[in-house]
Amino acid sequence: MASNKFIGAHTSASGGVYNAITHAQEIGAKAFALFTKNQRQWVAKDLDTETIDKFKSMLEASGILPKHVLPHDSYLINLGHPEVDKLEKSRTAFIDELERCAQLGLDRLNFHPGSHLEKISKKDKENLEIMKPIEDKCLDVIAESINIALDKTEGVSAVLENTAGQGSNLGWRFEHLAHIIDKVEDKSRVGVCIDTCHMFTAGYDIRTRETYDATWNDFEKIVGFKYLMGMHLNDSKPPLGSHVDRHHSLGKGEIGLDAFKFIMQDERMDDIPLVLETIDETIWKDEIALLYSFAN
Ligand SMILES: [Zn+2]
Ligand SMILES: [Zn+2]
Repeated sequence: MASNKFIGAHTSASGGVYNAITHAQEIGAKAFALFTKNQRQWVAKDLDTETIDKFKSMLEASGILPKHVLPHDSYLINLGHPEVDKLEKSRTAFIDELERCAQLGLDRLNFHPGSHLEKISKKDKENLEIMKPIEDKCLDVIAESINIALDKTEGVSAVLENTAGQGSNLGWRFEHLAHIIDKVEDKSRVGVCIDTCHMFTAGYDIRTRETYDATWNDFEKIVGFKYLMGMHLNDSKPPLGSHVDRHHSLGKGEIGLDAFKFIMQDERMDDIPLVLETIDETIWKDEIALLYSFAN
C-alpha cells in the first residue's frame, strides 16, 4: 500500500534557498521546511530571479510538491507585540516573508503566533481568570496582523504553529489557535501546524491510544482538522505540561515512539508536510525511514 505521508525535515538553506531541496533529497525526504532568509535578522536582500528560477526548477525535478514545503518565518517576528513600533516592524517583516514564499511558488508559511510579553508566574499561566483578558487582547492583535498581511499578499496561507507556552508565547492552547482563526477574515488562507513536542509540553498527552484519541478529538472540536496544514514531528526532552520547548530525537524523549506510530497510521495527517526538527540531524535519514516503516 502506498503511503500518503509526506515526511521530511527542516533542512539548511545556507548558501541559497535551493540548497534546502538538495539536503531534503539526501535524507530521503518527500517534504521539507526551510527559512527563506536568515531567521535571526530583520531584513534580507530580495530573492533574485536566478535564485527563484533555480529553486522552482530544482523543486520540480525533486518530485516534492510545493504544498509539501513548509517555510518557517523569522524568530524575531512577534505579531502580537504590545508596542506599536515593534508590532509595525513585525508586520512589515511578516508581509515580506509571505511575499518571498509566493515568489518561490510556495503556498504556506509557518509562524509562531506571538507573545504578550507580560511577566506571568508559572503558577498563573494556567489560571484562566487572570490570563484570559491578557491573552485575548494579544490574540486579537495577532489576528489583526494576519488580516493586514493577507490583505496585502496573495496565494500564501498563514499557518499558525502551536507552541509549548514557554514564557509569554501564545498558541499553546487549542483555544488560542481557534480564537485567532475565528477573527481571520479569509479562512481559506489560514491554517495550523501542530508540533508534537510543543503539544505535549503544553499539556496535551499523545503517548497512549487513549490519550492520543482524546487529544485529537479536542483538536477537532476546538480547531478542526480542516485547518491542519502541516506538522512538526519532535520528541520532547521536558515532561508533559512543563511549558518548556526542547526537542529530542524520536523515541529518545518523554513522548516515545508509539505516538509517532499512531500519527503515521492516521489518515488525518495525509498529504501535509510532516517535518522533523529533532536535535540530531545526522540521523534524520534513519528517522524518516523509521516513520515510513510505521506508515505501511
Ligand atoms: Zn516546530
Ligand atoms: Zn520547538
